[in-house]
Amino acid sequence: MDSHANLYATVDLGAIAHNVGVLRDRSGADVIAVVKADGYAHGAVPVGRTALRAGAIALGVAQIREARALRAAGLDGHLIAWLHTTDADFAGAITDGIDIAVSSPRQLAAVVQAARGLGRTATVSVKLDTGLARSGVAPDEWDATAEAIAAASAEGAISLHGAMCHLAFGDVPEHPLNSLQGERLDEAVADLTRRGVTPELVHIANSPAALTRPDLARDAVRPGLSVYGYSPVPEIGDFGLIPAMTLETRISLIKRIPAGQGVSYNHTWVAPRNTFLGVVPAGYADGVPRGLSGRLGVHVNGRVFPSVGRICMDQLVIDLGPDGGGVAEGDRAILFGPACASAGEPVPTATDWADATGTIDYEIISRVGSRAVRRYV
Ligand code: PLP
Repeated sequence: MDSHANLYATVDLGAIAHNVGVLRDRSGADVIAVVKADGYAHGAVPVGRTALRAGAIALGVAQIREARALRAAGLDGHLIAWLHTTDADFAGAITDGIDIAVSSPRQLAAVVQAARGLGRTATVSVKLDTGLARSGVAPDEWDATAEAIAAASAEGAISLHGAMCHLAFGDVPEHPLNSLQGERLDEAVADLTRRGVTPELVHIANSPAALTRPDLARDAVRPGLSVYGYSPVPEIGDFGLIPAMTLETRISLIKRIPAGQGVSYNHTWVAPRNTFLGVVPAGYADGVPRGLSGRLGVHVNGRVFPSVGRICMDQLVIDLGPDGGGVAEGDRAILFGPACASAGEPVPTATDWADATGTIDYEIISRVGSRAVRRYV
């Protein structure tokens, strides 16, 4: 381990490859691995490269800027970007051969204009709003969009590659809207075919649907969270997914305090006995939720020690007990990781943090800050 860094997000790329395989097997379809938000903070480039090597047929991101960064890093697989303002860098996307998923006739017109300006054909997907009411072509704009797609295809300004939508209730597998959204996308694809343009890559399913609703897979599934090893439906199962990230650091300081000493800002915890404290150099700027103050456990040498007092921007404090718990300065401290990442008591997981703070795994992992040095094993 680099002895100069305080904090590491160690990412097991073998777990990423394994999870891509799980998603393919469960869904029976090809995988488009979602690596937006820097690969849910795992590092989009190494994760994307690993996913493609593991058989993913494409990578998905929200912004063109994200897709261009992947291209610039040398990833030459199929890249899809689906969230744009009308004045987005469509020319850059076309130059880099990025599949631009459009959500309105206005976005399509802007892509067509950029393609004409470059004298090139833009690779385009169409993203439909089939019930989520977020991005995607609104139902009342479908006719105009489909007509414009057909016209731009005939002109050679675009080549329609894909059609996609996103589920509102993916994590509620039996919700009736899931099937309905699938039917609405199928109808739109049939409509495009009648107009002489047939998308070759149709996809709907996010992680929960890829794992639980293989009937919703079309040509591919489009998971994010489960690529990183988390089950979005833990009540149904973990599906053999392996969490890829371990957030770890080392004890920076140990000190003895007397009974009655308050700890950290506002002394919200006062030592009930003489004890030893361990200072852990990670805080809310690194993605440790301040709301976990007093409720976080940190895994050191096979034991989970409770955090005490307020979690600060850069550091938090754990109570090592009156005998110091056998912990020394410099010992490895695991904040979260796969539960079985180390011997002894189970390592706290990102899911534990999410449950304790009333949020979802997505938010915990994607908020791991840039100060955590990404390390790939
Ligand atoms: N597709 C789209 C359009 C998304 O916005 C997302 C993420 O929110 C995904 C796929 C991946 O979803 P999940 O991480 O639930 O698998």
